Amino acid sequence: MQDCLFCKIIAGQIPSELVYQDEQVYAFLDINPTNPGHILVVPKQHSTGLLDAEPVTLSTLMPVVQRLAVAMKKVTQADGLNVIQNEGAAAGQMIQHLHFHLVPRKIGDGFEAWHGKPYASVEMMKAMGEQIRSQLV
Ligand code: 5GP
Ligand code: ZN
Repeated sequence: MQDCLFCKIIAGQIPSELVYQDEQVYAFLDINPTNPGHILVVPKQHSTGLLDAEPVTLSTLMPVVQRLAVAMKKVTQADGLNVIQNEGAAAGQMIQHLHFHLVPRKIGDGFEAWHGKPYASVEMMKAMGEQIRSQLV
């Protein structure tokens, strides 16, 4: 897609540190890593995010995410890793082309995950579950 940074990276118009590609997937190092070794895994087919992606695109992406996670964890000697996808500006999405972050993590590295807050009641949790189940298409 025109004017999409990641489409330009995939097309080779903007340089990137490629770590993997096949017919459907392109993966490269994040230019501004949370920790060194931070990878972005991107479908070559443009979609804005998860919600408008073709299911078949997602099914080709996840095995690659797993393979890269194994290699990256080994190389960085990480204790763990986060797989993150920011959907929409409210969630912190800056680039409007679906991508999964693979972030190596060390114990005590200071990048704490967000903290949960319990539901006010069991009934409210049950009602939320019911509403989501009723919207599944
Ligand atoms: P988002 O906030 O959209 O989930 O993440 C976008 C990511 O793309 C950021 O972590 C940012 O550092 C990375 N990024 C932005 N521009 C470039 C670029 O030109 N090259 C590379 N390799 N990464 C980029
Ligand atoms: Zn794109």
